[in-house]
Amino acid sequence: MTVKLDSSVQYLKGVGEQRAKLFGKLGITTVKDLLQHYPRGYIDLSAPCEISSAPNEEICAVRGVVIKKSQEIRLKGGRKMYKVLAADDTGVLELIFFNTKYTVDALDYDTPYLFYGRVQGNLLRKQMSAPAVYPADGDQPFISVYPLTAGLSNKVLSNIIRQALQQVDGQLPELLPDKIRALYQLEEISQALKNIHHPVSMQEMERARRRFMFEELFCLAVGVSLLKKRNLTKQGYPMKPQEMSAFYEALPFILTGAQQKAIDEILSDMQKNVPANRLVQGDVGSGKTMVAMAAAYFAYLNGAQSALMAPTEILARQHYQGLSALADKLGMKTDLLVGSMTAAQKRKAKEKLLCGETDLCIGTHALLSEGVDFQNLQLVITDEQHRFGVAQRTALQEKGKQPHTLVMSATPIPRTLALMIYGELDISIIDELPPNRQPVRTYRIGSDKRKRAFGFIRDHLDQGLQAFIVCPLVEQGEEDTGLQAATEYMLDISTQFFSGYTVGLLHGKMKAADKEKVMGDFSSGLIQLLISTTVVEVGVDVPNAVIMMVENAERFGLSQLHQLRGRVGRGCVQSHCILLTDSKNPDTLQRVDMMCKSNNGFEIAEYDLKTRGPGNFLGHEQHGLPHLKIADLTTDVTLVADAQQAANEVLEKDPDLSSPSHQALRETIIGLLNKVGERPN
Ligand code: ADP
Ligand code: MG
Repeated sequence: MTVKLDSSVQYLKGVGEQRAKLFGKLGITTVKDLLQHYPRGYIDLSAPCEISSAPNEEICAVRGVVIKKSQEIRLKGGRKMYKVLAADDTGVLELIFFNTKYTVDALDYDTPYLFYGRVQGNLLRKQMSAPAVYPADGDQPFISVYPLTAGLSNKVLSNIIRQALQQVDGQLPELLPDKIRALYQLEEISQALKNIHHPVSMQEMERARRRFMFEELFCLAVGVSLLKKRNLTKQGYPMKPQEMSAFYEALPFILTGAQQKAIDEILSDMQKNVPANRLVQGDVGSGKTMVAMAAAYFAYLNGAQSALMAPTEILARQHYQGLSALADKLGMKTDLLVGSMTAAQKRKAKEKLLCGETDLCIGTHALLSEGVDFQNLQLVITDEQHRFGVAQRTALQEKGKQPHTLVMSATPIPRTLALMIYGELDISIIDELPPNRQPVRTYRIGSDKRKRAFGFIRDHLDQGLQAFIVCPLVEQGEEDTGLQAATEYMLDISTQFFSGYTVGLLHGKMKAADKEKVMGDFSSGLIQLLISTTVVEVGVDVPNAVIMMVENAERFGLSQLHQLRGRVGRGCVQSHCILLTDSKNPDTLQRVDMMCKSNNGFEIAEYDLKTRGPGNFLGHEQHGLPHLKIADLTTDVTLVADAQQAANEVLEKDPDLSSPSHQALRETIIGLLNKVGERPN
């Protein structure tokens, strides 16, 4: 029996509806998806552990012979359990099987087996629950370990993949042109596919992995290049030079050199024939908002409308408050559009957009909704761009005709990554903070010092200053997680340690109107101490707030902690960041200590990337790109560069991938770009 690559996995033996659902959770619907579900690691069966030295709580393969099988044990709910003792020269291992009478019966005495699973227990009694069993002298030198989901075992998945490889009709299309494969010494697809799933040696496995990593990076590079090229062929609306001095004079401060440079770059882009497409990257507090406002003012002088989209309502309203005062001075009309406004308010805002009364509209995702139409939208700005996917950015662009685009991000991205992720954007970097900013002092403490920290906060509140305390949870659930939750925390401390002070609570589960009231009261100084979750992370700007204390600091990524810390240190008073953790894990403590050593977002991001990997640092939602299955943009730096180079070579000769030999590649790229909401041409 053969199956087609694009058939549903349900055509394979052993895949019923239930299992197909589990596969769906892993992103596998077709046989092709299944073949592209690469192992995340391999277990070398040629080097099993001895029982006595099998590491506790770790997954490993142990070699042993069966010396005893127990009677069937009936558990509650009708489940059956079997205990089997296996031994080698060094000790005895208890194996527990559930509901698998057949497997247990089939075990011979005195024949060596490999048992693969997690070892638990103590020195006296080692146990392995539901192990996978392999003959010790089998011809399979490695077990491929696949990414799994609950309810699907590695053995089952691995058998189904083996079956698919044997039965598949034809082969996966070769995406890499022969020349590229020869140049970079990459193995051909069908060979590589066999070797990645069932390698015979480590060398073969490495070769196969390298090929697939290269393929993945190559496709990404081709896709991003096409996006960029598409943008360059668009007809934009070149704007005219304008006298900007009124803007600079209306500001209460002088712009930093880096801000001015970014403004010059974006204004010069906006005067070109192709639409501007620029990323402004700058550490928290570097003053990106004014760069955006300068661009919006420039558009206004050119008779065009602008839209500024922020990821949260708090942030949108704050931008609105800050920018509308400045806009008033300049004769420019601003408006707000966010989800929590009443239907009547929204209707009014939409009318003003359509008839061109509003020059700059500030809002959230609400700007993307149907029925929001502009008279003449020519500049689209996205704040905290890493919070949006490419698709959302595109949706906002589509509200205009090829508008100029400016995106702003505080998540610093190392250069190699930026090229891949933002390859279609030009980049301005604001690498300078406004003058008179004192670096925030950062400390790590344990909960034994919490009371002292509260005293320290009180001293500052007494001076008319303000503070934040951030907790990882909104409220305590049923399970004891050992984590602080903002709701209970607020009740505790406002009566015990901060009676006589005004304490506010802010979290994501509150209604938008309530959140906004609390944030407004904090901005105006009515609330002195704000207990919050990470909703304050993004962009909130209250210069009078000088202390940021974070509970369970170990629970946050460094870039996130850096964002949180960026909420203070915005005025001219010395600010402090107190990171509280009771973690004993040396790696965790070292990570948190990195915060005490550095105030530089780029440095911190590099470190975060090195220690946690990009999976955590840049989730799919962080950059809007499709998830990489096998390659790693940060560790495979040479491969990234090679793939980029190869993509350039291919596109130089065949810019639209229209040659028949590139058909499969073209189709794959279109699929890839559809996933991020963009199409080439
Ligand atoms: P971010 O880059 O994090 O978005 P903001 O644009 O919110 O930073 O700016 C942070 C604070 O710095 C704001 O209060 C803003 O008014 C102020 N600011 C911006 N530029 C300057 C400057 N050149 N000199 C002094 N203060 C500035
Ligand atoms: Mg900002």
